[in-house]
Amino acid sequence: ECKERVDTLKEKTGVTPGLAVILVGEDPASAVYVRNKIRACDAVGIKSYTHRLDTDIKTEDLVVLIHQLNADAGVHGILVQLPLPKHIDMERVLETISPEKDVDGFHLYNVGGLILGKGDSFPPCTPYGVVKMLESENIDVEGQNVVVVGASNIVGKPMALMLMAKDATVAICHAKTRDLAQFTILADILVVAAGVPNLIVSPMVKTGAVVIDVGINRLPDGRLVGDVDFEGVSKKASYITPVPGGVGPMTVTMLLENTVASAERAAAKGQA
Ligand code: NAD
Repeated sequence: ECKERVDTLKEKTGVTPGLAVILVGEDPASAVYVRNKIRACDAVGIKSYTHRLDTDIKTEDLVVLIHQLNADAGVHGILVQLPLPKHIDMERVLETISPEKDVDGFHLYNVGGLILGKGDSFPPCTPYGVVKMLESENIDVEGQNVVVVGASNIVGKPMALMLMAKDATVAICHAKTRDLAQFTILADILVVAAGVPNLIVSPMVKTGAVVIDVGINRLPDGRLVGDVDFEGVSKKASYITPVPGGVGPMTVTMLLENTVASAERAAAKGQA
């Protein structure tokens, strides 16, 4: 779908969507994520511009680069790969990105837009991908009991808001929740984003529940697993996402979707 939209945009307006990706430092996991995002851009015809920067870059220099990208008409999306090195003022960096190019959806404007349901804001990619998955499988959310395990700014909180906007009854659990199982057992839809392998086991899950595993954990033996015991829980769930291969690829896809949407808006403005 993204590729079709890119082709149409190029054909009708001459605009090629562009995504600038900023990677600071040498974190190996971040390097893999960035590589996957660039490959995905290539696959659908989005032009990507990668900026690899030294770990010891100053906040000020990063801010200058982002201002340049904000002003660059060929760039419709700006992504700063997180985490940033500790000495960098992450909030300042994220607030410098123009909300119109903030395709990761982390700028305050886009976070606020999520709460108010503003149509022009960019939803953060991971929870947006989960919503798309539910939609594409025709899983009704309205009136359902949704339990989100994890309350981070990039996954848990926006996930809960998005499903609340679709009229689900939402509970958010986190590391301080007492007796997690008493919540998870009530879930018609269980979304888990805690970063703890095997946190969710079969007795904690209602028969027939839809289970979405956002977690990505590297075990000491090198295996990549989610937060859910897939083996056990898959016998009880009506739907379950695997790790790897579930929410991860959807996250990348929604980044493409947000970038295409941004380019479409820019093209429409240019023609107005
Ligand atoms: P985070 O560390 O910022 O937040 C984790 C949340 O889980 C916190 O709210 C914490 O209170 C809660 N938590 C921790 N231990 C818990 C426990 N024992 N019981 C209940 N809640 C607990 O992490 P994050 O950035 O939200 O990421 C969560 C997981 O999702 C990680 O494994 C991360 O790698 C993964 N992730 C995957 C994608 C993807 O594309 N699939 C994207 C982002 C994050």
